[in-house]
Amino acid sequence: MRTVTHDPVCQMEIEREQAVAQRLLGDTAFYFCSPGCAELFDREPERYLAPPSPSRAHFQLAIIGGGPAGLTAALYASIQRIETVLIADRIGGQAVESVDMQNYMGFQVIEGRDLIARFRDQLLQSHFVEHRLDRVTSLRVESGRFHLETERGGHFMSDAVFVATGMKERVLGVPGEERLLHRGVSFSVVQDAERFYGRDVAIVGGGNSGLQAVARLAPIAGRLFLIAVGTLSGDLADIARARSFPNLTILEHTAVREVLGTERVEGIRVMPAVGEEREIPVGGVFVEIGFTPDSGLASGLAEFNKRGEIVIGSECSTRTPGLFAAGDVTNCFGKRVVVACGEGAKAALAAHEYLSRREVASPLAAVPQNL
Ligand SMILES: Cc1cc2nc3c(=O)[nH]c(=O)nc-3n(C[C@H](O)[C@H](O)[C@H](O)COP(=O)(O)OP(=O)(O)OC[C@H]3O[C@@H](n4cnc5c(N)ncnc54)[C@H](O)[C@@H]3O)c2cc1C
Repeated sequence: MRTVTHDPVCQMEIEREQAVAQRLLGDTAFYFCSPGCAELFDREPERYLAPPSPSRAHFQLAIIGGGPAGLTAALYASIQRIETVLIADRIGGQAVESVDMQNYMGFQVIEGRDLIARFRDQLLQSHFVEHRLDRVTSLRVESGRFHLETERGGHFMSDAVFVATGMKERVLGVPGEERLLHRGVSFSVVQDAERFYGRDVAIVGGGNSGLQAVARLAPIAGRLFLIAVGTLSGDLADIARARSFPNLTILEHTAVREVLGTERVEGIRVMPAVGEEREIPVGGVFVEIGFTPDSGLASGLAEFNKRGEIVIGSECSTRTPGLFAAGDVTNCFGKRVVVACGEGAKAALAAHEYLSRREVASPLAAVPQNL
């Protein structure tokens, strides 16, 4: 049987059997995701034991986001010996949703979550970086320093910040969608596909995400309905593969009006561009209609384009000195894992240069103050 607990330092969920370190305090055992977290605990256990455990600390660099951009930046920051904290509400970001990634160098094909597991191990086992599983709720500049507040009551200060918050799922915004979330409505085929074994399912969205969901569900689900407001817009190879599944019905030029059901999803109501509104009985709905940039934290500190992406310079800089951004949250062209990793690396190198210049200009500004 799996026994799941939380690392008291970073709050990451870990299986006891797979913890890399363990400590016994009185008659309570604590389990850790990495030797680095165990070491921090050894130094100041009381800091991590008082629930809730607000932390207040100063770092040279704070990285917000644990997707490919944030994880790569953290690795580079660690190699550059920058005092860094990585704060992410989820390790892996969108990449864990990729069913079979065929465009990451070094692998013919790899599942997104396997690739992220390798990133995570490289970062936490070989190059430890302080990290917290938490959501940053505000970011502001005061007296020449960045201040970050988190959902768990943390308050971090830093000389530079790297925003790598990526993108969040776009919602349909129709009745029933929110109410039946996790009761048949899902935004993650990777996490939820297995729950729909043998059941009829609707997938909303005709882009790459929708087509990947079809590929994942076709062998295990009952009848599948792929619903797109226009025509299918994903890669041609994925469209051809989807059309070959005998259990798939494609409904183009069709809008979803409502998710039906009381306790669980029982169907959807759709409206085709031509014809009558109708109901389709299904036991699940996967919403795969794309993403919007999760850029709100940088409000007032950076410029945004019409899509809401943070506008960055060639070194991932923004209009606020010391504030860097990279990956899908920015106007950088090419929303891909390999691009996000490259941009994350670039941002960490740029942050290193910024911090070095700052140290030369004002040696006192660089003295770390752990409060
Ligand atoms: C279904 C799907 C399939 C894909 N397939 C491929 C593929 O095959 N190949 C490919 O190259 N790319 C693929 N992509 C795209 C790729 O995953 C993204 O381009 C890449 O993940 C972007 O990385 P990122 O680090 O910029 O952002 P994200 O991956 O979006 O990561 C953002 C991180 O920030 C965190 N975060 C957000 N807000 C906060 C906050 N306030 N506080 C703390 N943390 C926060 C999130 O939890 C997350 O950890 C796919 C995407 C999807 C959705």
